[in-house]
Amino acid sequence: MELKTELILIRYGELSTKGKNRKDFINRLTQNVRNALSDFSQLRYEKTFDRLYIHLNGTDETEVVERLKNVFGIISFSCAVKIASELEAMIEAGYAVALSSQGKTFKIETRRHDKQFFITSDEINRAVAAKILKNTDWKVDVHHPDLRIQIEVRQTGTYVMKETIAGAGGYPTGIGGKALLMLSGGIDSPVAGYLTMKRGVAIECIHYASPPYTSSSAQQKVLDLASKISLYQGSIKVTIIPFTELQLAIYEHCDESYAITIMRRMMFRIAERVAQQHHCLALVTGESVGQVASQTLESMNAINQVVTLPVLRPVACFDKLEIISLAEKIGTYETSILPFEDCCTIFTPKNPVTRPSISHCERAESRFDFEPLIERCIREARQIWVKPGRSQEEDLF
Ligand code: ATP
Ligand code: MG
Repeated sequence: MELKTELILIRYGELSTKGKNRKDFINRLTQNVRNALSDFSQLRYEKTFDRLYIHLNGTDETEVVERLKNVFGIISFSCAVKIASELEAMIEAGYAVALSSQGKTFKIETRRHDKQFFITSDEINRAVAAKILKNTDWKVDVHHPDLRIQIEVRQTGTYVMKETIAGAGGYPTGIGGKALLMLSGGIDSPVAGYLTMKRGVAIECIHYASPPYTSSSAQQKVLDLASKISLYQGSIKVTIIPFTELQLAIYEHCDESYAITIMRRMMFRIAERVAQQHHCLALVTGESVGQVASQTLESMNAINQVVTLPVLRPVACFDKLEIISLAEKIGTYETSILPFEDCCTIFTPKNPVTRPSISHCERAESRFDFEPLIERCIREARQIWVKPGRSQEEDLF
Protein backbone atom coordinates (compact mmCIF):
# COMPACT_ATOMS: atom_id res chain seq x y z
CA MET A 1 0.00 0.00 0.00
CA GLU A 2 1.49 3.33 -1.13
CA LEU A 3 0.81 6.37 0.96
CA LYS A 4 -0.70 9.30 -0.88
CA THR A 5 -0.19 12.70 0.70
CA GLU A 6 -3.49 14.24 1.70
CA LEU A 7 -2.32 17.44 3.22
CA ILE A 8 0.71 19.61 3.82
CA LEU A 9 1.37 20.82 7.27
CA ILE A 10 3.22 24.15 7.49
CA ARG A 11 5.15 25.33 10.52
CA TYR A 12 5.42 29.07 10.98
CA GLY A 13 8.84 30.71 11.04
CA GLU A 14 10.30 33.29 13.40
CA LEU A 15 7.11 33.65 15.31
CA SER A 16 8.21 35.09 18.61
CA THR A 17 5.63 37.85 18.47
CA LYS A 18 2.28 37.63 20.18
CA GLY A 19 -1.22 39.06 19.94
CA LYS A 20 -2.08 41.17 16.93
CA ASN A 21 1.38 40.77 15.41
CA ARG A 22 1.02 37.03 15.49
CA LYS A 23 -2.34 37.26 13.80
CA ASP A 24 -0.93 39.59 11.12
CA PHE A 25 1.97 37.21 10.58
CA ILE A 26 -0.29 34.22 10.09
CA ASN A 27 -2.73 36.10 7.86
CA ARG A 28 0.04 37.48 5.67
CA LEU A 29 1.75 34.13 5.40
CA THR A 30 -1.51 32.45 4.45
CA GLN A 31 -2.14 35.08 1.79
CA ASN A 32 1.37 34.68 0.37
CA VAL A 33 1.00 30.89 0.30
CA ARG A 34 -2.36 31.23 -1.46
CA ASN A 35 -0.83 33.61 -4.01
CA ALA A 36 2.05 31.25 -4.67
CA LEU A 37 -0.41 28.40 -5.28
CA SER A 38 -3.26 30.37 -6.86
CA ASP A 39 -3.41 28.21 -9.98
CA PHE A 40 -4.23 25.05 -8.00
CA SER A 41 -7.96 25.38 -7.61
CA GLN A 42 -8.57 22.24 -5.56
CA LEU A 43 -6.50 23.28 -2.56
CA ARG A 44 -8.23 24.12 0.72
CA TYR A 45 -6.58 26.03 3.53
CA GLU A 46 -6.99 25.55 7.26
CA LYS A 47 -5.37 28.01 9.63
CA THR A 48 -4.74 27.20 13.26
CA PHE A 49 -2.84 28.86 16.08
CA ASP A 50 0.42 27.08 15.35
CA ARG A 51 -0.02 25.65 11.84
CA LEU A 52 -1.30 26.15 8.38
CA TYR A 53 -2.72 23.03 6.72
CA ILE A 54 -3.16 22.75 2.98
CA HIS A 55 -5.62 20.06 2.00
CA LEU A 56 -4.61 18.76 -1.42
CA ASN A 57 -7.98 17.30 -2.52
CA GLY A 58 -6.27 15.16 -5.13
CA THR A 59 -3.70 17.75 -6.29
CA ASP A 60 -0.26 16.26 -6.88
CA GLU A 61 2.09 17.41 -4.14
CA THR A 62 5.31 17.71 -6.18
CA GLU A 63 4.86 21.21 -7.60
CA VAL A 64 3.13 22.45 -4.44
CA VAL A 65 6.17 21.39 -2.41
CA GLU A 66 8.56 23.18 -4.81
CA ARG A 67 6.64 26.44 -4.56
CA LEU A 68 6.34 26.33 -0.79
CA LYS A 69 10.14 26.20 -0.52
CA ASN A 70 10.22 29.82 -1.74
CA VAL A 71 7.67 31.32 0.63
CA PHE A 72 9.28 33.34 3.41
CA GLY A 73 7.91 32.88 6.93
CA ILE A 74 7.78 29.07 6.72
CA ILE A 75 10.29 27.34 8.98
CA SER A 76 9.48 23.86 7.68
CA PHE A 77 6.67 21.78 6.28
CA SER A 78 5.69 18.14 5.91
CA CYS A 79 3.59 16.01 3.63
CA ALA A 80 1.08 14.19 5.78
CA VAL A 81 -2.01 12.09 6.04
CA LYS A 82 -4.70 12.55 8.66
CA ILE A 83 -6.11 9.42 10.24
CA ALA A 84 -8.32 8.56 13.17
CA SER A 85 -6.55 8.64 16.52
CA GLU A 86 -6.49 4.87 16.79
CA LEU A 87 -3.44 2.69 17.27
CA GLU A 88 -4.24 0.31 14.41
CA ALA A 89 -4.58 3.21 11.96
CA MET A 90 -1.21 4.61 13.12
CA ILE A 91 0.51 1.30 12.60
CA GLU A 92 -0.91 0.94 9.08
CA ALA A 93 -0.05 4.54 8.12
CA GLY A 94 3.49 4.27 9.51
CA TYR A 95 3.98 1.06 7.55
CA ALA A 96 2.66 2.68 4.38
CA VAL A 97 5.09 5.59 4.80
CA ALA A 98 8.01 3.16 5.02
CA LEU A 99 6.80 1.31 1.91
CA SER A 100 6.61 4.51 -0.10
CA SER A 101 10.01 5.89 1.02
CA GLN A 102 13.64 5.29 0.08
CA GLY A 103 16.32 4.39 2.60
CA LYS A 104 17.53 1.74 5.01
CA THR A 105 17.04 3.15 8.48
CA PHE A 106 14.11 4.83 10.19
CA LYS A 107 12.89 6.30 13.41
CA ILE A 108 9.36 6.86 14.66
CA GLU A 109 8.80 10.11 16.54
CA THR A 110 5.44 10.33 18.23
CA ARG A 111 4.10 13.37 20.03
CA ARG A 112 0.89 13.27 21.98
CA HIS A 113 -0.97 16.55 22.11
CA ASP A 114 -3.82 14.49 23.47
CA LYS A 115 -2.43 13.30 26.76
CA GLN A 116 -5.60 11.26 27.38
CA PHE A 117 -4.60 8.84 24.64
CA PHE A 118 -4.52 5.40 26.17
CA ILE A 119 -0.84 4.56 25.59
CA THR A 120 2.34 6.64 25.73
CA SER A 121 4.30 8.09 22.84
CA ASP A 122 7.02 5.52 23.37
CA GLU A 123 4.55 2.67 23.21
CA ILE A 124 3.16 4.03 19.95
CA ASN A 125 6.73 4.28 18.58
CA ARG A 126 7.33 0.65 19.41
CA ALA A 127 4.04 -0.60 18.03
CA VAL A 128 4.50 1.19 14.70
CA ALA A 129 8.18 0.21 14.42
CA ALA A 130 7.36 -3.45 15.12
CA LYS A 131 5.16 -3.75 12.03
CA ILE A 132 7.81 -2.15 9.80
CA LEU A 133 10.61 -4.29 11.21
CA LYS A 134 8.60 -7.46 10.78
CA ASN A 135 7.55 -6.85 7.18
CA THR A 136 10.44 -4.97 5.55
CA ASP A 137 14.26 -4.68 5.49
CA TRP A 138 14.21 -1.30 7.26
CA LYS A 139 16.30 -1.03 10.46
CA VAL A 140 15.86 1.37 13.35
CA ASP A 141 18.45 4.13 13.82
CA VAL A 142 17.48 6.63 16.47
CA HIS A 143 20.43 8.95 15.85
CA HIS A 144 20.79 9.39 12.09
CA PRO A 145 17.84 7.73 10.41
CA ASP A 146 17.31 8.00 6.65
CA LEU A 147 13.60 8.38 7.34
CA ARG A 148 11.83 10.05 10.24
CA ILE A 149 8.17 9.21 10.53
CA GLN A 150 6.43 11.71 12.75
CA ILE A 151 3.15 10.87 14.37
CA GLU A 152 1.23 13.65 16.02
CA VAL A 153 -1.71 12.55 18.10
CA ARG A 154 -4.44 15.12 18.61
CA GLN A 155 -8.01 14.77 19.84
CA THR A 156 -9.37 15.67 16.43
CA GLY A 157 -7.22 13.13 14.60
CA THR A 158 -3.65 12.00 14.10
CA TYR A 159 -1.20 13.38 11.56
CA VAL A 160 1.38 11.02 10.12
CA MET A 161 4.21 12.84 8.34
CA LYS A 162 6.69 11.50 5.84
CA GLU A 163 9.56 13.95 6.23
CA THR A 164 10.30 17.49 7.28
CA ILE A 165 11.23 19.80 4.44
CA ALA A 166 13.14 22.99 5.26
CA GLY A 167 11.26 26.20 4.48
CA ALA A 168 12.83 29.47 3.35
CA GLY A 169 12.72 31.01 6.84
CA GLY A 170 12.44 34.75 7.43
CA TYR A 171 9.20 36.72 7.68
CA PRO A 172 6.23 36.71 5.31
CA THR A 173 7.03 39.21 2.56
CA GLY A 174 5.01 42.39 2.92
CA ILE A 175 4.51 42.24 6.67
CA GLY A 176 7.28 44.78 7.12
CA GLY A 177 6.01 47.29 4.53
CA LYS A 178 7.69 48.09 1.24
CA ALA A 179 11.08 49.35 0.12
CA LEU A 180 12.51 50.57 -3.17
CA LEU A 181 15.40 48.48 -4.49
CA MET A 182 17.92 50.18 -6.76
CA LEU A 183 18.34 47.35 -9.25
CA SER A 184 21.31 47.37 -11.60
CA GLY A 185 22.19 44.54 -13.92
CA GLY A 186 24.93 43.41 -11.54
CA ILE A 187 25.32 40.53 -9.14
CA ASP A 188 24.79 42.37 -5.88
CA SER A 189 21.50 44.23 -6.11
CA PRO A 190 19.27 41.21 -6.92
CA VAL A 191 20.74 39.47 -3.87
CA ALA A 192 20.07 42.59 -1.79
CA GLY A 193 16.46 42.46 -2.98
CA TYR A 194 16.10 38.80 -2.06
CA LEU A 195 17.46 39.40 1.45
CA THR A 196 15.12 42.35 1.94
CA MET A 197 12.07 40.29 1.00
CA LYS A 198 13.27 37.57 3.34
CA ARG A 199 12.99 40.03 6.24
CA GLY A 200 9.34 40.50 5.34
CA VAL A 201 9.76 43.73 3.38
CA ALA A 202 8.15 43.77 -0.07
CA ILE A 203 10.08 45.50 -2.81
CA GLU A 204 9.62 47.60 -5.89
CA CYS A 205 12.58 48.23 -8.18
CA ILE A 206 14.03 51.34 -9.76
CA HIS A 207 16.49 51.16 -12.62
CA TYR A 208 18.44 53.95 -14.30
CA ALA A 209 18.88 53.45 -18.03
CA SER A 210 20.96 55.64 -20.31
CA PRO A 211 19.89 54.95 -23.87
CA PRO A 212 21.42 54.94 -26.44
CA TYR A 213 24.57 54.31 -24.38
CA THR A 214 22.83 51.41 -22.69
CA SER A 215 21.02 48.96 -24.96
CA SER A 216 17.57 47.46 -24.80
CA SER A 217 19.21 44.11 -24.01
CA ALA A 218 20.72 45.70 -20.89
CA GLN A 219 17.27 46.80 -19.84
CA GLN A 220 15.76 43.42 -20.62
CA LYS A 221 18.45 41.85 -18.44
CA VAL A 222 17.31 44.00 -15.52
CA LEU A 223 13.68 43.01 -16.11
CA ASP A 224 14.75 39.36 -16.24
CA LEU A 225 16.50 39.77 -12.89
CA ALA A 226 13.43 41.43 -11.39
CA SER A 227 11.32 38.58 -12.76
CA LYS A 228 13.63 36.01 -11.14
CA ILE A 229 13.36 37.58 -7.70
CA SER A 230 9.62 38.22 -8.09
CA LEU A 231 9.27 34.52 -7.29
CA TYR A 232 9.49 35.47 -3.62
CA GLN A 233 6.63 37.95 -3.63
CA GLY A 234 4.49 37.15 -6.68
CA SER A 235 5.11 40.18 -8.87
CA ILE A 236 7.31 43.26 -8.84
CA LYS A 237 6.87 46.75 -10.20
CA VAL A 238 9.95 48.14 -11.96
CA THR A 239 10.32 51.87 -12.55
CA ILE A 240 12.71 52.69 -15.38
CA ILE A 241 14.28 56.13 -15.21
CA PRO A 242 15.58 57.72 -18.42
CA PHE A 243 18.90 58.89 -17.02
CA THR A 244 20.92 59.94 -20.10
CA GLU A 245 20.36 63.67 -20.05
CA LEU A 246 21.13 64.07 -16.39
CA GLN A 247 24.16 61.86 -16.69
CA LEU A 248 25.53 63.85 -19.62
CA ALA A 249 24.97 67.08 -17.67
CA ILE A 250 26.99 65.65 -14.79
CA TYR A 251 29.88 64.82 -17.08
CA GLU A 252 29.70 68.26 -18.64
CA HIS A 253 29.76 70.21 -15.38
CA CYS A 254 31.65 68.13 -12.83
CA ASP A 255 35.26 66.97 -12.42
CA GLU A 256 35.69 63.57 -13.93
CA SER A 257 36.92 62.12 -10.66
CA TYR A 258 33.71 63.19 -8.93
CA ALA A 259 31.34 62.15 -11.69
CA ILE A 260 30.44 58.78 -10.16
CA THR A 261 29.82 60.27 -6.74
CA ILE A 262 27.59 63.01 -8.13
CA MET A 263 25.82 60.52 -10.37
CA ARG A 264 25.04 58.35 -7.37
CA ARG A 265 23.81 61.35 -5.39
CA MET A 266 21.39 62.04 -8.27
CA MET A 267 20.29 58.40 -8.29
CA PHE A 268 19.58 58.59 -4.57
CA ARG A 269 17.64 61.85 -4.91
CA ILE A 270 15.46 60.37 -7.64
CA ALA A 271 14.98 57.10 -5.75
CA GLU A 272 13.87 58.92 -2.62
CA ARG A 273 11.22 60.86 -4.48
CA VAL A 274 9.92 57.79 -6.29
CA ALA A 275 9.93 55.90 -2.97
CA GLN A 276 7.80 58.58 -1.38
CA GLN A 277 5.35 58.62 -4.29
CA HIS A 278 5.04 54.84 -4.10
CA HIS A 279 4.80 54.59 -0.30
CA CYS A 280 8.14 52.85 0.12
CA LEU A 281 9.69 53.37 3.54
CA ALA A 282 13.34 52.70 2.70
CA LEU A 283 15.80 52.46 -0.16
CA VAL A 284 17.78 49.28 -0.77
CA THR A 285 21.09 48.98 -2.63
CA GLY A 286 23.57 46.22 -3.39
CA GLU A 287 26.49 48.24 -2.10
CA SER A 288 29.23 46.33 -0.32
CA VAL A 289 31.78 48.15 1.80
CA GLY A 290 35.07 48.66 0.04
CA GLN A 291 34.11 46.77 -3.12
CA VAL A 292 34.71 49.70 -5.47
CA ALA A 293 35.69 53.38 -5.19
CA SER A 294 32.11 54.52 -4.74
CA GLN A 295 31.56 52.10 -1.87
CA THR A 296 34.08 53.32 0.68
CA LEU A 297 32.55 54.69 3.86
CA GLU A 298 33.57 58.20 2.74
CA SER A 299 31.71 57.69 -0.53
CA MET A 300 28.69 56.26 1.21
CA ASN A 301 28.62 59.34 3.45
CA ALA A 302 28.83 61.70 0.51
CA ILE A 303 26.09 59.84 -1.34
CA ASN A 304 23.80 59.14 1.60
CA GLN A 305 23.81 62.79 2.65
CA VAL A 306 21.24 63.79 0.01
CA VAL A 307 18.45 61.55 1.37
CA THR A 308 16.69 61.12 4.68
CA LEU A 309 14.96 57.78 4.07
CA PRO A 310 16.77 54.83 5.64
CA VAL A 311 19.04 53.03 3.17
CA LEU A 312 19.26 49.26 3.61
CA ARG A 313 22.44 47.63 2.35
CA PRO A 314 21.84 43.94 2.99
CA VAL A 315 25.13 42.80 1.43
CA ALA A 316 27.23 45.64 2.89
CA CYS A 317 29.38 43.25 4.91
CA PHE A 318 29.38 40.21 2.66
CA ASP A 319 32.42 39.09 0.69
CA LYS A 320 31.97 38.97 -3.06
CA LEU A 321 32.15 35.15 -2.98
CA GLU A 322 29.37 35.03 -0.39
CA ILE A 323 27.23 37.27 -2.57
CA ILE A 324 27.96 35.11 -5.61
CA SER A 325 26.99 31.93 -3.84
CA LEU A 326 23.67 33.48 -2.80
CA ALA A 327 23.15 34.72 -6.37
CA GLU A 328 23.68 31.17 -7.58
CA LYS A 329 21.28 29.82 -5.00
CA ILE A 330 18.48 32.19 -6.02
CA GLY A 331 19.19 31.72 -9.73
CA THR A 332 20.19 35.28 -10.66
CA TYR A 333 23.92 34.75 -11.19
CA GLU A 334 23.75 33.47 -14.77
CA THR A 335 21.73 36.50 -15.84
CA SER A 336 23.83 38.98 -13.85
CA ILE A 337 27.04 37.98 -15.58
CA LEU A 338 25.68 38.51 -19.09
CA PRO A 339 27.94 41.17 -20.60
CA PHE A 340 25.64 44.13 -21.18
CA GLU A 341 26.79 47.63 -20.33
CA ASP A 342 25.30 49.44 -17.34
CA CYS A 343 24.94 53.20 -17.09
CA CYS A 344 27.69 53.14 -14.44
CA THR A 345 30.13 51.29 -16.65
CA ILE A 346 29.97 53.44 -19.76
CA PHE A 347 31.01 56.70 -18.14
CA THR A 348 33.51 55.21 -15.72
CA PRO A 349 36.21 57.79 -15.00
CA LYS A 350 39.86 56.76 -14.99
CA ASN A 351 40.50 57.89 -11.44
CA PRO A 352 37.32 57.98 -9.39
CA VAL A 353 37.77 59.69 -6.04
CA THR A 354 37.72 57.21 -3.14
CA ARG A 355 37.35 59.82 -0.39
CA PRO A 356 34.97 62.39 -1.81
CA SER A 357 34.31 65.48 0.27
CA ILE A 358 30.75 66.60 0.73
CA SER A 359 31.59 70.26 0.19
CA HIS A 360 33.26 69.43 -3.10
CA CYS A 361 30.12 67.57 -4.20
CA GLU A 362 27.94 70.51 -3.23
CA ARG A 363 30.18 72.96 -5.11
CA ALA A 364 30.14 70.80 -8.22
CA GLU A 365 26.36 70.48 -8.09
CA SER A 366 25.90 74.24 -7.69
CA ARG A 367 27.41 74.73 -11.14
CA PHE A 368 24.35 73.45 -12.94
CA ASP A 369 20.62 73.43 -12.50
CA PHE A 370 19.96 69.76 -11.97
CA GLU A 371 16.54 70.09 -10.36
CA PRO A 372 14.56 70.32 -13.65
CA LEU A 373 16.53 67.34 -14.95
CA ILE A 374 15.59 65.28 -11.90
CA GLU A 375 11.96 66.26 -12.29
CA ARG A 376 12.04 65.23 -15.91
CA CYS A 377 13.56 61.85 -15.04
CA ILE A 378 10.66 61.21 -12.70
CA ARG A 379 8.02 62.57 -15.06
CA GLU A 380 9.24 60.41 -17.93
CA ALA A 381 9.72 57.27 -15.89
CA ARG A 382 8.03 54.11 -17.15
CA GLN A 383 6.59 51.36 -15.01
CA ILE A 384 6.63 47.73 -15.88
CA TRP A 385 5.24 44.80 -13.88
CA VAL A 386 7.13 41.54 -13.97
CA LYS A 387 6.20 38.10 -12.67
CA PRO A 388 8.04 34.80 -12.44
CA GLY A 389 8.67 33.70 -16.02
CA ARG A 390 7.23 36.92 -17.41
CA SER A 391 9.56 39.86 -17.96
CA GLN A 392 8.53 41.22 -21.33
CA GLU A 393 7.49 44.86 -21.48
CA GLU A 394 3.95 45.33 -20.41
CA ASP A 395 3.42 49.01 -19.68
CA LEU A 396 1.03 49.91 -16.95
CA PHE A 397 0.02 53.19 -18.53
P1 ATP B 1 25.64 45.53 -8.56
O1 ATP B 1 26.31 44.21 -8.68
O2 ATP B 1 24.36 45.46 -7.78
O3 ATP B 1 25.50 46.23 -9.88
P2 ATP B 1 28.09 46.83 -8.10
O4 ATP B 1 29.02 46.12 -7.24
O5 ATP B 1 28.27 46.75 -9.58
O6 ATP B 1 26.62 46.40 -7.70
P3 ATP B 1 27.80 49.69 -8.32
O7 ATP B 1 27.68 49.60 -9.79
O8 ATP B 1 28.68 50.69 -7.70
O9 ATP B 1 28.15 48.33 -7.63
O10 ATP B 1 26.35 49.95 -7.76
C1 ATP B 1 26.10 49.92 -6.39
C2 ATP B 1 24.60 49.85 -6.21
O11 ATP B 1 23.98 50.99 -6.80
C3 ATP B 1 23.99 48.68 -6.92
O12 ATP B 1 24.05 47.52 -6.13
C4 ATP B 1 22.57 49.14 -7.12
O13 ATP B 1 21.83 49.02 -5.93
C5 ATP B 1 22.76 50.62 -7.41
N1 ATP B 1 22.84 50.85 -8.87
C6 ATP B 1 23.97 50.93 -9.63
N2 ATP B 1 23.65 51.14 -10.93
C7 ATP B 1 22.31 51.18 -11.00
C8 ATP B 1 21.36 51.38 -12.06
N3 ATP B 1 21.74 51.55 -13.32
N4 ATP B 1 20.06 51.36 -11.74
C9 ATP B 1 19.66 51.16 -10.45
N5 ATP B 1 20.51 50.99 -9.45
C10 ATP B 1 21.80 51.00 -9.70
MG1 MG C 1 26.86 47.46 -10.92
